[in-house]
Amino acid sequence: MLAVFSYTAGLSLFIFNLLFLPCFSIRVLPPTDTWRVFDKFHDAEKGTHVAGMSELKKYFHRFGYLESKNFSDFFDDPFESAVVLYQKNLGLKVTGKLDSDTVNQIISPRCGVSDQVHNHKLHVTRHYSFFYGQPRWVKPDPISLTYAFSPSNMIEYIPESDIMTAFERAFSRWAAVIPVNFTLTRDYSSADIKIGFYSGDHGDGEPFDGVLGILAHAFSPENGRLHFDSSEIWAVDMKRQKSRVAVDLESVATHEIGHILGLAHSSVKEAIMYPSLSPRQKKVELRIDDVNGVQLLYGSNPNFQISSLLESDTSLSWAVRLDVRYSSFVGAILIAIVLL
Ligand SMILES: [Zn+2]
Ligand SMILES: [Zn+2]
Repeated sequence: MLAVFSYTAGLSLFIFNLLFLPCFSIRVLPPTDTWRVFDKFHDAEKGTHVAGMSELKKYFHRFGYLESKNFSDFFDDPFESAVVLYQKNLGLKVTGKLDSDTVNQIISPRCGVSDQVHNHKLHVTRHYSFFYGQPRWVKPDPISLTYAFSPSNMIEYIPESDIMTAFERAFSRWAAVIPVNFTLTRDYSSADIKIGFYSGDHGDGEPFDGVLGILAHAFSPENGRLHFDSSEIWAVDMKRQKSRVAVDLESVATHEIGHILGLAHSSVKEAIMYPSLSPRQKKVELRIDDVNGVQLLYGSNPNFQISSLLESDTSLSWAVRLDVRYSSFVGAILIAIVLL
């Protein structure tokens, strides 16, 4: 199975996932048919019938891009709109077609939380988002949240102390930018944030799906549940974990804590709150986009200095460029109105 998995080309990743990810029923096709299937998706345009399209429709429905439950194999108008929305929200080139960038994004391992879908009309501003109603933890200042690990739903192959350290670092990154403290407690039943590893259907209506696919999910405030798919090969040190499908625990933990605090997904690829993460990828540093989002909910930690983030954050220049362009556009309209 691993023989066909390669990082050297996005197409190879597509083939691997097409064959083996549980979200695609066509994964059982023999390798010789795979190229033909890829071509079918790649060339699919509105009105065409493509075997396997229904699985893509289920995927878009699952993550909030397609309201209709008509999962036919036709590339219809609602599906095209879903593709456009998906491309906008994931920061992809908007073509309305299943181009290779879009297909590669669809089959990338990702968080199980649905995307908050925004239909940008005038322009595309990539940034953070919140859950519906913008929920946050409401407690007396300074907010102090406790977290605990499930006594019966943990993984055995990573030392507990290593897991604790990874989570400590993940929590501290958020605590550094907002006035919220996180404290480990052994009292699982009373902890604000409850962390555990589960497989398949585990009783919350959001079943996990085996290796890769969906990696983890968390619930919006003030629920506090943070679940990892125990079928993944989790790693805290990639030097020790050689598997090509290993997933960095600290990266996913940092992302899911963002959900626990009230952030939904961001369309900024570099942001922690972007929904997908490649196998073996380590992505643990908060970006300006993450910080702006979470500070809108909780305010700033008085000790936080934004300048410490500015130098390393390449996503900022992109966002600033877009805002400047939009501001200029609005400015030009205002000037035109004044002159008239
Ligand atoms: Zn997520
Ligand atoms: Zn769950």
